[in-house]
Amino acid sequence: MKGLMQDGPLMISSLIQIGADVYGGSEVVSVVAGEGVVRHTYRDINKRAKQLAQALQSAGIGMTDRVATLAWNDHRHLEAYYGVSGMGAVVHTINPRLFPEQLIYIINHAEDRILLTDPMFLPLIEKIIDNCPKLEKIVAMCTAENLPESSLDIIAYEDFIGGFDGNYTWPEFEETAASSLCYTSGTTGNPKGALYTHRSTVLHALMAGTPSVTGTGSNTTLMPVVPMFHVNAWGQPYYAPLTGSKLVLPGPGLDGASLYNIIHAEGVTNTAGVPTIWLNLLKHTREVEGNLDVLEHVIIGGSAAPSAMIEEFQTTYGTQVVHAWGMTEMSPLGSSGVLPPHIEKTATEAEKFDLKVKQGHRVWGVDMKIVDDEEVPQPHDGKARGHLVVRGPWIISSYYNNHDANEKAFTKDGWFYTGDIATIDPDNFLQLVDRSKDVIKSGGEWISSIDLENEAVGAAGVGEAAVIGVAHPKWDERPVLVIVPEDSDNPPSEDSIRDHLSTRIAKWWMPDLIVFRNEIPHGATGKILKTDLRDELKDVLQDAG
Ligand code: AMP
Repeated sequence: MKGLMQDGPLMISSLIQIGADVYGGSEVVSVVAGEGVVRHTYRDINKRAKQLAQALQSAGIGMTDRVATLAWNDHRHLEAYYGVSGMGAVVHTINPRLFPEQLIYIINHAEDRILLTDPMFLPLIEKIIDNCPKLEKIVAMCTAENLPESSLDIIAYEDFIGGFDGNYTWPEFEETAASSLCYTSGTTGNPKGALYTHRSTVLHALMAGTPSVTGTGSNTTLMPVVPMFHVNAWGQPYYAPLTGSKLVLPGPGLDGASLYNIIHAEGVTNTAGVPTIWLNLLKHTREVEGNLDVLEHVIIGGSAAPSAMIEEFQTTYGTQVVHAWGMTEMSPLGSSGVLPPHIEKTATEAEKFDLKVKQGHRVWGVDMKIVDDEEVPQPHDGKARGHLVVRGPWIISSYYNNHDANEKAFTKDGWFYTGDIATIDPDNFLQLVDRSKDVIKSGGEWISSIDLENEAVGAAGVGEAAVIGVAHPKWDERPVLVIVPEDSDNPPSEDSIRDHLSTRIAKWWMPDLIVFRNEIPHGATGKILKTDLRDELKDVLQDAG
């Protein structure tokens, strides 16, 4: 017997519509390059997103056509999230830090017809435009007065939408229609596209905008520092209007001082980003002897949150860390470090801290298991390691138009290979051992580069740390530790780092070599680019015995 409930498609536009109808007075505060701090409400954003939908329609954009963005986090980018998907087209968020060849590849692969771009990226587009024949129109996300000189045929966003009145009803169509597209910033090979649906995005927002996953409450001020070009800014632009949360969009200035100031000025209670960003915020807060009293939760993901960082946020500043894990292919959230109530009530502070260092527990909607090389499931005992595989309604069922990538991405029974090696404990807390390509195989045993980095950044004077496996004549591979000192004029000594590590890691994990650098390369999403380091250091242990 079937149940007797009405059916209705889950539409992304419904999120901004409830924002406008019920939380219409909640603010969206943006820092816009060239304009400063700009304030809107969800009511304004809904109307402006509808104007954009009308403008796109009038430019000939129809269902499932791709409209690209090349932009930082601000209100116009938010309007593109809703305006483009809301009218049935696909918003393709592009990472401006990609190399020009990668930009050309993904614009052509996605067959983007219109590009909405921050004016600061126009010089970049001038360089690649001749190689992007399908691109018909470029809209600069600014006012007509701020339109820069350019050799391109461009129109200012405010002129593009200005002729339309926003008198528009969001259309309803199949919830499985494509809504948005994001390419993984893979370190090897061409980027691969994850094509989200309305249904996957709405379900993800319903899950993520809850206290038990992200600490989002009914009176939260959210600030995605994670860029809106990177996996839907981890869902915040979608669950902000759904929950009525004030939304702060910090624009391009992501240095410690700018973040510190906006957190205080706008009363940000809940923010999200990769560890590198928080290193800068913590450094600045220390330097000005400030506080983070207002900040209740910081969601850290993208790379492992070092234990020293978790400790400083929680113990020094009273900000709860939510250590989360996810992927572009997972919309992105797969796990959350918000402790379940029974653990919160009964565990000791030390036990809680140990759990916070792990990558959190699976969230509703995401099934996970670990399997060996033959895809045999391994026990969830916190010890057995395996390839982490996942399935669920906001996880890709295939890459966009990429037969080769699809062949290797799924188990025989259809679970998605994350490319991560992990343990899962009996409480379902996940601990990432490594990316399968980063784990160091020394004499048949595995050394986790994540664990080593985590311990190394806790040593006095260490700013950032990266560990790579380097070919070794006897052990196959051995770890090499690359250190960026906190203060380049006053670096820590190699001995002090080795002393620090010696009490925290197994003896055979001790890096064979410690290298000091003023900076290490970061990829387009702020993660350490180990491929460059591996290339550069591949021969350093050749003569070791
Ligand atoms: P991306 O698709 O660029 O977001 O990258 C996803 C990958 O980032 C994952 O497969 C992990 O290897 C890594 N990652 C994400 N979150 C974490 C985390 N909390 N700790 C360690 N690695 C992470």
